Amino acid sequence: MLKLDDISVRYGATLGVDRISIEVREGELVTLIGANGAGKSTTLRAISGLEPLSTGSIRFDGHDIGGAMPAQIIERGIAHCPEGRRVFPQLSVRENLEMGAYRRIDRQRVRSDMERMFDRFPRLRERSGQAAGTLSGGEQQMLAIARALMARPRLAMFDEPSLGLAPNIVQMIFELILEVRREGTTVLLVEQNAYAALGMCDRAYLLENGRIVTSGSAADMLANETIRKSYLGG
Ligand code: ATP
Repeated sequence: MLKLDDISVRYGATLGVDRISIEVREGELVTLIGANGAGKSTTLRAISGLEPLSTGSIRFDGHDIGGAMPAQIIERGIAHCPEGRRVFPQLSVRENLEMGAYRRIDRQRVRSDMERMFDRFPRLRERSGQAAGTLSGGEQQMLAIARALMARPRLAMFDEPSLGLAPNIVQMIFELILEVRREGTTVLLVEQNAYAALGMCDRAYLLENGRIVTSGSAADMLANETIRKSYLGG
């Protein structure tokens, strides 16, 4: 479904990612793990058209999307829930959800999807008229996820959705991501908590300094000695 072939992204003299190749098949939940600065966010930003490629190609459903505009990429069915719950703080919860669906013309279904989001997140319904900036961190993360899903993506990308949240909220967010996948959406997840990520994904890629050092099934990665020592606390 998604194929990154030998891509690099350059920030001036720094290579954000350095000739990486990643594949995500339809229906999979794939995670990118690795320390701070490894290049995980850069990879998602490149897929979304937010960073230009200096080498390589990105194909989605067989179409070359490397170099496409972010809006075209959303239109093809890729949604990106960025790191740090970037909700629109001045807009209401409802308006934030509407923004997620701004390119959709099936307004009737947008309305019913919004109702489904509110059923799934009763807290968001209660606060639907409230400015998003006044929500708690966990609520803003739920809103950011719900907003991405309002685009009805075929591939949903989540960047560190658990960052800075209390353990019970983290659990809820992970369950939600698993549910999104069960409903048929393919997921590409960036997660610093390698243990949690490997517990929920089908396959994973480990990035270090902008390069992929290991990849494989969740079971293989969990059994990998280097990963156990460096990322799973032995
Ligand atoms: P984090 O969890 O901290 O976001 P990450 O694995 O997502 O880590 P990236 O944010 O993709 O890592 O960063 C990869 C490399 O690119 C790092 O060396 C980082 O300093 C650099 N980098 C990222 N964004 C920029 C930018 N806008 N300008 C300059 N360098 C950047």
